[in-house]
Amino acid sequence: MRIEVLTIFPEMIKSVLESSIMKKAQERGCLEVNVINIRDYTEDKHRTVDDYPYGGGSGMLLKAGPIFSAVDELKKKDELRILMTTPKGRVFNQDMALDLSLEKKKIVFICGHYEGIDERVRILLKPEEVSIGDYVLTGGELAALVVIDASVRLIPGALGNDRSSADDSFSGQINTGLLEYPHYTRPAEFRKLKVPRMLLSGNHKKIAAWRRKRTLFNTLMKRPDLLENLDLTAEEAGFLNEIKTRKFGCKKRSYANGCS
Ligand code: SAM
Repeated sequence: MRIEVLTIFPEMIKSVLESSIMKKAQERGCLEVNVINIRDYTEDKHRTVDDYPYGGGSGMLLKAGPIFSAVDELKKKDELRILMTTPKGRVFNQDMALDLSLEKKKIVFICGHYEGIDERVRILLKPEEVSIGDYVLTGGELAALVVIDASVRLIPGALGNDRSSADDSFSGQINTGLLEYPHYTRPAEFRKLKVPRMLLSGNHKKIAAWRRKRTLFNTLMKRPDLLENLDLTAEEAGFLNEIKTRKFGCKKRSYANGCS
């Protein structure tokens, strides 16, 4: 994955890129990231990146000129896929992360700030507008980092062990777009709460079936919307119906408490 981040706060991006998986992914050759300070593309002596909005109103806007100059420079060298971080964009999800992780073009993130960016950037560059949720951040840097992090961990080899992302929530054979099953580590008993017996059984087929049920249960309890339009086996649909109709009230309680 090759990425350019256009920002007026390059240090925010750089500090995150220098740690954990982002750093390792770069060392492993899965990720190339370059951070561009939009200010470097200004032409006045004060290096002005923002100005007052026409029509009045509070706050400043990032000017179109420096952003265009930076993108024009990039276009000379590479084919680009341009993403603009904005709360008005399509809400980012795991499918988009997977799509970006496979992208061969250079991905350019435009990070807004203040009240946002001069509308002509959106109209003329036609970027994909990406939001990370229905709330407003101070700037696009954290949003770009969220998108980059979620995408990079899906690049084969980026995590060192590809199984780590294979069964995350929303992906893999067990979770298939749903919320992940619960995990336990040692000790086998903690404050009188035991690890579900099934996980100690050593029977991988049965463990996978147990996990699938916990995935369905977790999703039904926390994000039932994710179950809509999902292809379930008759057995899985029956299992969810049992829980929904509370026929197995005690089972529901024991599942929620993590018991087997
Ligand atoms: N006035 C804008 C509005 O109401 O839509 C909000 C501007 S916000 C304070 C400044 C910048 O932060 C935006 O230009 C965008 O780059 C970024 N930003 C804020 N919230 C975001 C979100 N939920 N997802 C992605 N980027 C966001």
